Amino acid sequence: MTTSHYIAGHWVEGQGSDCISVTDPALGQPFAELMAASVSQVDQAVAAARSALPAWKSTCASERAAFLRGFAEQLGQRREALVTLQMRNNGKPRHEAEIDLDDAIATFGYYAELAERLPSKKRTVPLAAPGFTARTRLEPVGVVGLIVPWNFPLVTSAWKLAPALAAGCTVVLKPSEVTPLIEQAYGQIADALGLPAGVLNIVNGKAETGAALSNHNGLDKLSFTGSNSVGSQVMRSASAQCRPVTLELGGKSAIVVFDDCDVDQAVEWIVAGITWNAGQMCSATSRLLVQDGIADALLPRLQAALENLRVGNPLTEEVDMGPLTSQAQWLKVASYFATAREEGLQCLAGGHALDREGWFVSPTLYTDVPKDSRLWTEEIFGPVLCARRFASEEQAIAEANDSRFGLVATVCSADLERAERVADALEVGHVWINSVQAVFVETSWGGTKGSGIGRELGPWGLSAYQSVKHVTRCLG
Ligand code: NAD
Repeated sequence: MTTSHYIAGHWVEGQGSDCISVTDPALGQPFAELMAASVSQVDQAVAAARSALPAWKSTCASERAAFLRGFAEQLGQRREALVTLQMRNNGKPRHEAEIDLDDAIATFGYYAELAERLPSKKRTVPLAAPGFTARTRLEPVGVVGLIVPWNFPLVTSAWKLAPALAAGCTVVLKPSEVTPLIEQAYGQIADALGLPAGVLNIVNGKAETGAALSNHNGLDKLSFTGSNSVGSQVMRSASAQCRPVTLELGGKSAIVVFDDCDVDQAVEWIVAGITWNAGQMCSATSRLLVQDGIADALLPRLQAALENLRVGNPLTEEVDMGPLTSQAQWLKVASYFATAREEGLQCLAGGHALDREGWFVSPTLYTDVPKDSRLWTEEIFGPVLCARRFASEEQAIAEANDSRFGLVATVCSADLERAERVADALEVGHVWINSVQAVFVETSWGGTKGSGIGRELGPWGLSAYQSVKHVTRCLG
């Protein structure tokens, strides 16, 4: 790949100093290379977005909606290439790669619809005081930087790009250096649709490129998805310039299983919550809280289900779970296996890397994990499940909430009144009841506490790129 950055409507070569190696994690082998963008190319991208802003924000919302529908359509036309690339670069099983693509398509379609329904220019505000009228305008925030991670590249970028463009913002997107090829599709689609130059810019690179974007004084807002450590740096840059930031960060989410559940059904929800995308999900339900009355029946079934998963290369085998996406992530997960051994945790399944080429680990289950164990408190970002037993509803809620994170949770119970009550008491941004982690574009995504600031998806995702203005007139 030579021309891998999309700036002001042109594909250009990277002039930075970092060479990015794009790897197939099932083989542990690189299959492409590209040069990162330089700091001055980040400047050019921000400048292009700035100069495209006045015209783009003046387009009527239905025109922007037509472009968004075009994105949805063109993603569909690139289905096989994009599914294969996610399988090859992320190690996703085919069905997961398909679902990611469908999610991205649905996101563009949804924000096209919201754009069409954007209130017409004037919206009157009822005032109690006589002699005045007031109206509301929802204006685009302006030029927005979007920085994303590698675990759901198509989806995470769609969740930012679609509402930002719908609102009338212009953007500079920085994909992860681990998966830099996938979001190139968005630039190619912009080209194919004739999106005005500079409305969407894509710069690839590592931390230096990300920092050049997040520190840039030409942005009006930054929306970041990634780790807490980088998120806090991004927030510091935003605070230095007093500008808004959306942060979608990590999680250590709980799945609470009450003893009135069907055991097999509960096992299915638990396994999906920790092995989807090989557990590399901010929303992984990596803390299992299981009620005393069902634990002895459930844990052996869960152990068998994890041990029976087909783990392998999604490009050549029928698999339920692929490899971890990067060597760095594989080393990180392996370090938690070592910590678990040092801490003397009871391992019921897995607990080791697989003895084969590529970055595979076994689906893992530790039981009776102490509350102060690093494996119970820290985000591992792999298929590593830690379990504890509980006696009462109050104890389950207290333990689930005892985390610095607050992204999501799952509640499993046949008693729906109780399930709803527990869902209300959990300090998180999204709760599933008796379900896998079904994500719908109409509902919000985002967390409380250390899991971030702001919400994506639904109308909240659009508001994140809008600024409210009121015009008040004295009737004289
Ligand atoms: P990361 O923070 O290492 O990287 C995220 C992005 O930030 C990448 O594009 C990276 O190049 C860039 N970056 C790195 N250093 C930077 C700097 N100093 N300034 C600006 N940008 C910089 O995260 P990751 O390893 O790619 O992703 C995994 C993390 O993302 C996990 O913690 C996961 O929970 C989180 N995540 C959260 C959500 C959510 O919706 N809450 C979704 C997906 C992933």
